[in-house]
Amino acid sequence: MNWLETLTPQHVRDLVPYASARREASEGQVWLNANESPYTPYSVPPEQKLNRYPDFQPGDLLRAYASYAGVQTEQLLVTRGIDEGIDLLTRAFCRPGYDQILYTPPTYGMYKICAESLGVSSKPVPLGSGWQLDLPSMLAGVSESKLIYLCSPNNPTGNTLKREDIIDLLEATRERSLLVVDEAYIEFVPQITVQDLLRDYPHLIILRTLSKAFALAGLRCGFVMAAPEIIHTLQKTSAPYPIPVPIIALALQALEKLGIASMKSAVETIVKDRQGLWKQLEQYSFVKKVYPSEANFLLFQLEDAPALMKALKSSGVVIRDQSAQVGLGNTLRVTVGTDQELSQFTTAMQLFEENQ
Ligand SMILES: *Cc1c(COP(=O)(O)O)cnc(C)c1O
Repeated sequence: MNWLETLTPQHVRDLVPYASARREASEGQVWLNANESPYTPYSVPPEQKLNRYPDFQPGDLLRAYASYAGVQTEQLLVTRGIDEGIDLLTRAFCRPGYDQILYTPPTYGMYKICAESLGVSSKPVPLGSGWQLDLPSMLAGVSESKLIYLCSPNNPTGNTLKREDIIDLLEATRERSLLVVDEAYIEFVPQITVQDLLRDYPHLIILRTLSKAFALAGLRCGFVMAAPEIIHTLQKTSAPYPIPVPIIALALQALEKLGIASMKSAVETIVKDRQGLWKQLEQYSFVKKVYPSEANFLLFQLEDAPALMKALKSSGVVIRDQSAQVGLGNTLRVTVGTDQELSQFTTAMQLFEENQ
């Protein structure tokens, strides 16, 4: 070991960094790999004075999201995206080398990676049939887990979790664990939110973001919704000035009446285009299965995922290989882009079909 390795704790030496969509691919013209919105209604606001520190938690932004979401400002924390929410939760509630988080693969990768980077262990309890929660196995592991992560709609499978299962878990974990529900894609299927359960379950935490339906992935702005005591605890582990002044201004634009209307109309378009893309994908003979999705992406299984990734890449189309996840061998995920992006995608798919 060299001197730097000696100074680096074992759990950090062992880390494999999250292969984000952006890190994984650097070339291409059609970006359908990160579930971003293809629509860009916002631009950076004109000159803004930056000589003063921002508020620790900007009141106007808290009020705007509280009013949009229908919660109290005391139930909210603004974060630099959901990813920072996950980091704050892990640091606030888990002791390195001692505590454990539970997650349900195939799902979003950061729950596990964030825990590992902080020396906290992670227990996978794979999703069962129809990508629903395997409740018996989960209930066996909950008492040793400080944080339990659910994702609904789930990335990358696209399905929503059964509300009764979430309630059963909430009942079983009362005063023992914190149940975190990642609602990154909730605007695509708003009726399934579990936000109303915050009232009865003080150990429920919901994660939200402006990155997906609100078309602001580049902004880095998200929200934790939970009981005021949990928000207060998270504030203790937060950086002193986490949200830069220009971010506050842009997030406020997105949460104005016009911004919300524009988000809703984009969601309508994306949901409609998703149905069209689903039918397209079903038609290719090399596609074995297309999974139903409630979000802005589709997951499909085929014979030879690497071959298709390569063919798409040579056409400048970038989608995401999910084959490394449990139960997702030879499975790819494609984001619903604009008509033009999707037609470039389907042209490349057609070409692949002809060359089979
Ligand atoms: C994209 C995504 C995130 C990351 O959200 P940010 O707010 O951009 O950090 C979190 N969870 C899921 C399920 C996602 O798909």
